[in-house]
Amino acid sequence: MALPVFPSLKITSDALVPEGAFAEAQAAFLKPDPALVAELNALLREKNAGIVAHFYMDPELQGVLSACDWPHIHVSDSLAMADRAIAMAEQGVRTVAVLGVDFMSENVRAMLDASGYEHIPVYRVAAEPIGCSLAESAEAAAYGAYLAEAARTPRSLHVIYINTSLVTKAKAHGLVPTITCTSSNVVQTVLQAAAQIPDVHIWFGPDTYMGDNLAHMFARLAEMPDEQIRQLHSAHDQATVRSLLPRFHYFEQGTCIVHHMFGKEVVDLVREHYADVFVTAHLEVPGEMFELGLEAQRHGDGVVGSTSNILAFVLGKVDEAIARGEGSTLRFILGTEAGMITPIVRQVQEKLRDYASEGGREITAQIIFPVASEAVAQDAQSGLGVVPGVAGGEGCSTAGGCATCPYMKMNSLRALLSLLERVDVEPGSNLVPFEPRKYVEQIRGRTAADLGGEPILHMRGFQRTGALPQALVDDVLSRVAPAAS
Ligand code: SF4
Repeated sequence: MALPVFPSLKITSDALVPEGAFAEAQAAFLKPDPALVAELNALLREKNAGIVAHFYMDPELQGVLSACDWPHIHVSDSLAMADRAIAMAEQGVRTVAVLGVDFMSENVRAMLDASGYEHIPVYRVAAEPIGCSLAESAEAAAYGAYLAEAARTPRSLHVIYINTSLVTKAKAHGLVPTITCTSSNVVQTVLQAAAQIPDVHIWFGPDTYMGDNLAHMFARLAEMPDEQIRQLHSAHDQATVRSLLPRFHYFEQGTCIVHHMFGKEVVDLVREHYADVFVTAHLEVPGEMFELGLEAQRHGDGVVGSTSNILAFVLGKVDEAIARGEGSTLRFILGTEAGMITPIVRQVQEKLRDYASEGGREITAQIIFPVASEAVAQDAQSGLGVVPGVAGGEGCSTAGGCATCPYMKMNSLRALLSLLERVDVEPGSNLVPFEPRKYVEQIRGRTAADLGGEPILHMRGFQRTGALPQALVDDVLSRVAPAAS
């Protein structure tokens, strides 16, 4: 069996050389089949249909989408997917096709309805459910029991992963003040809540794997010097993080099959096959990758820190190699989001170019992406088209990548073309199985779409201002626990 190899990018003074699965993904993205591009373009024009797609679609599909010149195609995280669907409706599309898992198409449907576009049909590309094991685990009775416990505990804030249905968010918010989070803002959300709400209890869910990793990470953080903790959140130090530990709870029966498969597996592969490399890990990378970075840092072979710490570490090692004056290849594991590659490429190449122009010997910096091979994100700035790894937002962390999710894979190009061919030709009832679930039920006198949208608005408020919205804080402080039965 061939050795598992992570995708990587070699940076030299005058070239960028993608290796492994990355090179294949790039080829699939940058050179899509022209016949398929023409077929999709023509169908979209004929049906006047818009497409909103999640950015964990595979590179072949993304490549075809990005090569079409039809203006109503958008690839992003699920929050922006709904916004763009509304913009497309405003611009006059007659239909919206959603490429993603079911809670994403449900969001698009709910947001279009809320904006007065109930008449625009929204379709998924499969007649069967395009589930999400994680979203489903938050619909189980056990999650209700978890929330009931939170509701009985004074000063509770429920931090729910964005990968859940709107109705789950609505039911949860009806019980416990709730804010959504993504993998890229969960650490800040928890730390900010702890800084802003005295004695708050945080109830994270439903991803058990991520919850467990977060609990470990906060425990490790509590041992780090105050200065390093302040880099992550200026209001915290060892004492405040320690006091948070017993008030951080997570649901223990929620599984994203991809997080589950890839987290430990990826780190085991790093340990086995990349023992001699430098390891960099962002402070917000949960779990095993964080531990790996800490271990390397202790030996001077790595760094755990912010993006600028990571960049400074990589540049420092390049400087050391230049000072030694020997030709060499420096290898780095990049334990953070894919977008980090752009400043690394730019600044490393600048140093190598200067060194080469002075007659220096060939130095190569190889950046290794510890992700499942199919996890790629679009990156316009690096000039590469796609980069290995994950982009910000919901879905998976550096532990894997939603591109590897069997549910996401139900969104094939063939399925999309076949759906579009049927739009406007077959009676509407034939396409009913392709429609997303609707949210008509009322919870606490509000529609599920309206109440379930509020935790998302709270998160947006936090992202915009850096503080939790006062209405949410007041809600946490004022909710009275239900009387015990
Ligand atoms: S990879 Fe993403 S879509 Fe797939 S089960 Fe996990 S959270 Fe759900």
